[in-house]
Amino acid sequence: MDWKRRNNIQNLVDGILDFNVLRKPPIELIGDIMKKRNIVFEERDENDSEFCGIYIELNDTKIIFVNSNMYEPRKNFTIAHELGHHYLGHALTDGAIICDKSALDASNKERPEAEKEADYFASCLLIPKDLIMQKRKDFETRNKNYSDDALIDYLKDFFKVSKEALRYRLIELNIVDN
Ligand SMILES: [Zn+2]
Repeated sequence: MDWKRRNNIQNLVDGILDFNVLRKPPIELIGDIMKKRNIVFEERDENDSEFCGIYIELNDTKIIFVNSNMYEPRKNFTIAHELGHHYLGHALTDGAIICDKSALDASNKERPEAEKEADYFASCLLIPKDLIMQKRKDFETRNKNYSDDALIDYLKDFFKVSKEALRYRLIELNIVDN
């Protein structure tokens, strides 16, 4: 994914989040976004621990299922990731894209480009830059001499994402060094 594609995805997501005037954590808006896009969403109790989520187009029906047996930050990221496949119009195989643990594993450099794009979409959607800046300011006014770790803990709880996902985004935005 080159910088142009990243910019495209970032701009697309900014448009999607335009209606977030109350500045809620974006994961709380996902239900509304799904409704607007006529997507059927369901969490499913799946035994297969490798299975994370799936995006399906069946005639005119669009469906996202995620495995309910994931810890919340991971589940949230998977939901946003599947939404990324939808918005980015990724090619489907037999009407679906199945995402397992290896598809969502950022350290797996062999992943298809579509999986990396869906991850980037999820990162932009769940952790938008303007909201990070605002929450950081809030945190700074209440905490003098804070550490990066303390800031990351505060932000991950607000955005309901994992520490890893948050740290990755903060590094990308040059907010923390590593
Ligand atoms: Zn995927």
